Amino acid sequence: MYSLNLDDVQLELQRMARQFANETLSKGVIERDIKAEFPHDMIKQMGELGFMGMTANSKYNGAEMDTLSYVIALEEIARVDAASSVVMSVQNSLVNWIIETFGTEDQKEKYLTKLATSEYIGSYCLSEPEAGSDASDQHTLAEKVGDKWIINGTKNWITSAQNADVFIVFAQTNPELKHKGIACFVIPKGTPGLEPGLKEDKMGLRSSDTCSVGLTNVEVGDDALIGQVGEGFYIAMKGLTGGRIGIAAQALGIAQGAFDLALKYSKERKTMGVPICEHQAIQMKLAQMSMKISAARSLVHKAAWMKDNGMDVNRESSEAKLFASTIANEVAKEAVQIHGGYGYVREYQVERMMRDAKVTEIYEGTSEIQHIVIARDIIKNS
Ligand SMILES: Cc1cc2nc3c(=O)[nH]c(=O)nc-3n(C[C@H](O)[C@H](O)[C@H](O)COP(=O)(O)OP(=O)(O)OC[C@H]3O[C@@H](n4cnc5c(N)ncnc54)[C@H](O)[C@@H]3O)c2cc1C
Repeated sequence: MYSLNLDDVQLELQRMARQFANETLSKGVIERDIKAEFPHDMIKQMGELGFMGMTANSKYNGAEMDTLSYVIALEEIARVDAASSVVMSVQNSLVNWIIETFGTEDQKEKYLTKLATSEYIGSYCLSEPEAGSDASDQHTLAEKVGDKWIINGTKNWITSAQNADVFIVFAQTNPELKHKGIACFVIPKGTPGLEPGLKEDKMGLRSSDTCSVGLTNVEVGDDALIGQVGEGFYIAMKGLTGGRIGIAAQALGIAQGAFDLALKYSKERKTMGVPICEHQAIQMKLAQMSMKISAARSLVHKAAWMKDNGMDVNRESSEAKLFASTIANEVAKEAVQIHGGYGYVREYQVERMMRDAKVTEIYEGTSEIQHIVIARDIIKNS
């Protein structure tokens, strides 16, 4: 039965993740953002705490926790450093999950055991210069020559790619078959012809790395295939359905982080002789922000709980992502407003959160695409 109460294990995990975020992740978060510096040390420590293989089976070095536990930890990480949380989200929701669910035993041994401890960093390569919202329109081609696959194309916007050891790559094997011709491959770093491009100079999540990945005559065998030829699009979409719960948790964390700072500041800052939290206009903002965060958390936890209980979460994951990303942007913007001029400078952090929040409305399916997913589900099932 669905319950809003967290159990003792989940509460302890939340406490541990919060402590790590407050005491460790917070150090240097402003500088990492300014320098767009990848958080190597933080990701390593997150691996040691089990955060990089949260739901993976313990036989592959995973923490073997449920999705609800995963989103609880992810929220805490995102509350302090959203850039580190996207590395955690892509690794857990997309890379680890796809290898564990669809991969062979050899692939799990070779990759998942190292991804789950953060010895390896993973990337998910679906988007292309001309294939974002319409991800089925893959231009990257995988051609079978003898017993080898030769892959050519360009992937765009790939999170962690410059630092990745493992690349999950989607490619078209037969354009006539459209989405039914797509295959999924796992390709290790250093494979000749696989070249990450330059890091994008982003508005937010600046210390995470996002770049293109060039594939020029990349040669792999059948042992690189995840699932069957033609199953790639299904695997990509299944990954994103779960991934959206992760991005929703990330957005929730950004909102909570911005709210915490705004509330604290509103008690300290005085105007007209009283703390600004005593002005009704500020109280209305705080009430709205708090209410939206609570509603978003309910949707995120419900979607995670449903996934844990084997239910279809196509609609619920989109609802959680759409709502949480919308309110993250609203809450972060109000947090800047509550800080007045101080909100506009880096030191007070809420401007970074406002920049970080924006991408949650874009990646793993834009808000427009989430509306389409939800509406189609409503129409189909009504
Ligand atoms: C920081 C960052 C990290 C990312 N990480 C990854 C990653 O790790 N792996 C990966 O594969 N991709 C990644 N992406 C890519 C991301 O998923 C895409 O940018 C996203 O899916 C949108 O695709 P697009 O940019 O091509 O926009 P487009 O698809 O060109 O969309 C442009 C606009 O048109 C709207 N639109 C498009 N189609 C429709 C429609 N049918 N109805 C209504 N509106 C529509 C969109 O909502 C959007 O507003 C990342 C992107 C960013 C910015």
